[in-house]
Amino acid sequence: MNTAVSLERLVCTFGPVGQPVRAVDGVDLDIPEGEFYSLLGPSGSGKTTVLRLIGGFESPDSGTVRLFGQDVTAQPPYKRDVNTVFQDYALFPHLSVQDNVAYPLTVRGVPGAERRRRAGEMLDLVRLTAYGNRRPAQLSGGQRQRVALARALAARPRLLLLDEPLGALDLKLREQMQQELRSIQRQLGLTFIYVTHDQGEALSMSDRLAVFSAGRIEQQGTPHELYEYPRTAFVADFVGGANLLPGERLGRPGERLALRPERVEVLPAGQGTWQATVRGVQYLGAQTRLELDAGGVTVLALIPSAGGLPALGEVRGLRWETSALRVLER
Ligand code: ADP
Ligand code: MG
Repeated sequence: MNTAVSLERLVCTFGPVGQPVRAVDGVDLDIPEGEFYSLLGPSGSGKTTVLRLIGGFESPDSGTVRLFGQDVTAQPPYKRDVNTVFQDYALFPHLSVQDNVAYPLTVRGVPGAERRRRAGEMLDLVRLTAYGNRRPAQLSGGQRQRVALARALAARPRLLLLDEPLGALDLKLREQMQQELRSIQRQLGLTFIYVTHDQGEALSMSDRLAVFSAGRIEQQGTPHELYEYPRTAFVADFVGGANLLPGERLGRPGERLALRPERVEVLPAGQGTWQATVRGVQYLGAQTRLELDAGGVTVLALIPSAGGLPALGEVRGLRWETSALRVLER
């Protein structure tokens, strides 16, 4: 497998001399060609800056950016085989949809007939064939985002960067666009780097992802690896949510353990390993989220709603398989 992007010890700081913000603080990352790769993390963790470093819109203080085996650290954006889709679409309001999509080809001097053919292909790809003559203002948010995607793909970059592209869409449309994006990426076989702060989105769309915190990568791997084997408390909590349990209470002194809420069984009082008082009941439809107090340790449990729900203040027993516990790094 070839490597599309290789980042080596990347550092990028902003702000006045003397009190710089380390937006990117020593990032090493290899992204295989043809993957849907997500950068996941809370706001301010450095995701956009990493994307801008890959695109060439930002220069690192130190470290190396390689694209398809070539060191491009000193190259300007237009010399990199990359395009970017932003959250705010950035379409030209005075141009038709067709001309917006063809714009990058116009800039590159692609002749008229070829330009129209390729723009047409891209509009087919994003299922907007019938909308070529409209203006962006005459489209819905989801359609505008698809025009932005078609435009970014028109020049056939080898690598597409997407910075929270679905952030402005409502939930239903966002879920539909997630599937469309994934299917387009598979059809074209291109490398997509997708920035999001939404862990559900990153888990469901990605071949692989990197979890960012404070300008560093906490952990990278497949969605399954990150969910099943989080190495740090941050990853356990940010990806999926977890109970962080003190090993002292489990006969494992010195260890810090993570336990997914759906792995906690809630039993009648008197049964199980721990006794706990119900402090919160949050009905979510198919499942209900319980907050329980087990002698000073808060435990979250996700249980099927159909089995009947406890009331606030009631006592329940808690149990879990030892194999559900994950030991975290200190
Ligand atoms: P994310 O995309 O994960 O929300 P960013 O990469 O945008 O994070 O920002 C990382 C950190 O760098 C933040 O603390 C942000 O305020 C800071 N930062 C980003 N860009 C600039 C800039 N141009 N000038 C000053 N600080 C910046
Ligand atoms: Mg950002």
